[in-house]
Amino acid sequence: MRAQPPASHFIDGAYVEDTNGTLIESIYPATEEVIARLHAATPDVVERAVASAREAQKAWAHLSPTARGRILRKAADLMRERNQELSELETLDTGKPIQETIVADPTSGADAFEYFGGIIAAGQNGSHIPLGSDFAYTKRVPLGVCVGIGAWNYPQQIACWKSAPALAAGNAMIFKPSETTPLGALKIAEILSEAGLPKGLFNVVQGDRHTGPLLVDHPHVAKVSLTGSVATGRKVAAAAAGHLKHVTMELGGKSPLIVFSDADLDSAVGGAMLGNFYSSGQVCSNGTRVFVQRQVKDAFLDRLKARTDAIQLGDPLDPATQMGPLVSHAQREKVLSYIEKGKAEGARVVTGGGIPNSVSGEGYYVQPTVFADVTDDMTIAREEIFGPVMCVLDFDHEDEVIERANASEFGLAGGVFTADLSRGHRVADRLEAGTLWINTYNLCPVEIPFGGSKQSGFGRENSLAALDHYTELKTVYVATGKVEAPY
Ligand code: NAD
Repeated sequence: MRAQPPASHFIDGAYVEDTNGTLIESIYPATEEVIARLHAATPDVVERAVASAREAQKAWAHLSPTARGRILRKAADLMRERNQELSELETLDTGKPIQETIVADPTSGADAFEYFGGIIAAGQNGSHIPLGSDFAYTKRVPLGVCVGIGAWNYPQQIACWKSAPALAAGNAMIFKPSETTPLGALKIAEILSEAGLPKGLFNVVQGDRHTGPLLVDHPHVAKVSLTGSVATGRKVAAAAAGHLKHVTMELGGKSPLIVFSDADLDSAVGGAMLGNFYSSGQVCSNGTRVFVQRQVKDAFLDRLKARTDAIQLGDPLDPATQMGPLVSHAQREKVLSYIEKGKAEGARVVTGGGIPNSVSGEGYYVQPTVFADVTDDMTIAREEIFGPVMCVLDFDHEDEVIERANASEFGLAGGVFTADLSRGHRVADRLEAGTLWINTYNLCPVEIPFGGSKQSGFGRENSLAALDHYTELKTVYVATGKVEAPY
C-alpha cells in the first residue's frame, strides 16, 4: 500500500500499534484505492497518550520560550525542505490537487510553526500593575494537555494550526485526525520529533466519533480545540462543558460574498471561484452565497461560466490538474443530493450539475457547479454543502443585501467586492462574521486571527490571539508592607 505508515499512532516519540482498535481504511479519493490500513485508538492507547503528554508537559512549560520556539522554527524548516513529499501525502490523503497542496498545506503548517516559534518569546509576556506601594503582576500560563480534533479538508494545516500555538505556549498536544484523512499528522509528529521536540509533547491518536469522546472526557485533558461541523461542535462543546474545560470551536459556514456593480468584475469572479472551487469547495470559510448586484448579473455569470468551464479536472498528482475529487464517496453523495435539491427547488444550472464525463470511472469527482436565480429560502442557499457548488443570488440595495447576508445561523466569514472603499468598510462592519475580506477572498495568513461567530464557533486560531486560547492568566499580588488585620 503506497502510503502505509509504520503504525497507526505516534505516542511518546515513537510509533505505536494496537490492532484491537477498529480498522480505519485510508482511501485515495481519485482512484478509490486503499492506500493504508490503520486502527482507531483503544482506551489503552488513549491512556498512554494522555499519560505521556502529561509527564512531558511539566518540563516543557519550564523551558524558556526562546528554547521552545527554536524547536518549532526548526520543524518549520524541515517542513519546507520536505514540501514535495508532504504535499504528495496530503494529496493522497485528501484528493486535493498537488497544484494546491504544494502551495497551501505543508507551507501553511510551516508558517504556523515559524510564526509561533518566532513570536512566543515576546508574545507571552504578562503585565505589571502598580498598586501604590504594593503591586501585582500577571503571567500567561499554559493550560496543560490540550486535545486537537481535526476535519478532513486540511489535515496537515489543522494539525499545525492547533499544535503550533499550543506547544509554543508550553502545552502538550494530543491530535486526533479525521478518520477520513489519518496520514498527514503522523508525518508532522515525525518532523517535530526530528526537530528536537521532547517525546510526549505531540502525540497522534487515530480514531472516529467514538474515539474523540475518550479524549474530550479525559480528566487530565485541559482543553479541546475542534475543527469540524456544527453538529459535532455542539456535542464536543457540551461534553467539555460537563468538565468545565477550555474549548475552541472552528465549525462550518455558509458565508456571503457580495459583489457590487462598481466592482472589478474579473477580480470578483476570480474571488468567487477561489471561494467556491478551491479544494473542490471543501473549505469552511467559502463564500457559497454569492450576492451579485442586478445590473452586473449577466456580465458576472458570463465570465464565471467561461472560466468555470475551463477548470481542469483530473489526476490530482498531475501538476496541471486544477480540481480533484471530493474526499469520500459519502461526501460526493451528499453534494450530489444538494445539487438535485437545487434543481428541484427551481435554481437554474449555469454550468456543471453532476458527475463529469471527462473523468470516467473511478474517483469521487463532481463538476464545478454554478446555480443562478437562487433565492434565500432554497435549501442550497441555507445549508453548508461543502462541495464545488456556487449559489448566485441577485440583489438591488446595500441595506437589503446586508440583511439577507446576515439572515443565517452561521457567521464564519464574508466578503465584499466594490470600488467604493467606504462602502467596503461599512459592509464589512455590518456583516456578522469572524473574518471578512474586502476585494479578495479566503486569504488566511498566520498573522491574522481566524474563527467564527454565531453557530460557526468561538475562539480564534492564528495570530497573537491564538495564544490567549492556549493559556490562562495568573495574577500575583505582592505586598511590600505589614498586614494590617482588624482582629
Ligand atoms: P465532523 O464534524 O464530521 O468531524 C470532525 C472531527 O470530529 C473528526 O475528527 C471526527 O472524528 C470528530 N468527531 C466526531 N464526533 C465527535 C464527538 N462526538 N466527539 C469528539 N470528536 C468527534 O467534520 P468533517 O466532516 O470532518 O469536516 C467538515 C466540517 O468541518 C465542515 O462543517 C466544515 O465547515 C468544518 N470545518 C471548519 C473549519 C474552520 O476552521 N472553521 C475548517 C475546516 C472544516
